[in-house]
Amino acid sequence: MIVLKSKREIELMKASGEIAAAALHLAGEKVKPGVSTLELDNIIKRYIVSQGAEPSFFNYGGFPGNSCISVNNVVIHGIPSKDLILKRGDIVSIDVGAFYRGFHGDTAFTFKCGDVSEEIQGLLDTTYGALEKGIEKALCGNKIGDISSAIQEYVESRNCSVVTDFVGHGVGVDLHEDPSVPNYGKAHFGPLLEAGVTIAIEPMVILGSSGDVEVLDDDWTTVSTSGEYSAHFEHTVAVTENGPVILTKV
Ligand code: MG
Repeated sequence: MIVLKSKREIELMKASGEIAAAALHLAGEKVKPGVSTLELDNIIKRYIVSQGAEPSFFNYGGFPGNSCISVNNVVIHGIPSKDLILKRGDIVSIDVGAFYRGFHGDTAFTFKCGDVSEEIQGLLDTTYGALEKGIEKALCGNKIGDISSAIQEYVESRNCSVVTDFVGHGVGVDLHEDPSVPNYGKAHFGPLLEAGVTIAIEPMVILGSSGDVEVLDDDWTTVSTSGEYSAHFEHTVAVTENGPVILTKV
């Protein structure tokens, strides 16, 4: 069941979203060679707690971190570790949720650790572009499939593949609500978008022709089966009569 949010509730979600976004970009500024992913996670936790909020992902389903930090061929759900030290050329996907005054905000961004190859820059541009294409379709009267197909078509036209095993989602009082927001699908199909629908749109994209993933023995770390690099960008978005509103802006 899709829970529609009132204008007041959307304002509250904006507050949660802004805390998550600020924590994310604070950590992003510290993405440098020699820094561990646990240090980044600690920055995120400290900021979120300093705002009177809670990290949404901490202990979610038993997740052992405050944020998910996924490097290179890790697609999502990387566990922050003191032993994972960033090096030049890495790409670092950080996914942050903040729970504040009863609502979650959920956002992700893939940062570069120094310069990356043209091919990897293409992956980042494609994934960010796919997020923008998806958000453009978050309009009253559209269907979820309009978002999904816009993302898929954009990604597949640029030598990249969408992940199908994991999807975006509704977000609100719960971190994961209805509807699912797949990064693949058909235009004009799926649940109706109306004012008050709040969703996390989050293309997860792998370089090359396969979107297949595998979950490692820790039950979290999700890697590309092909071994290719992966990127992940996410915003929490409210569908309103005035168009899509991004709730996780810095
Ligand atoms: Mg999410």
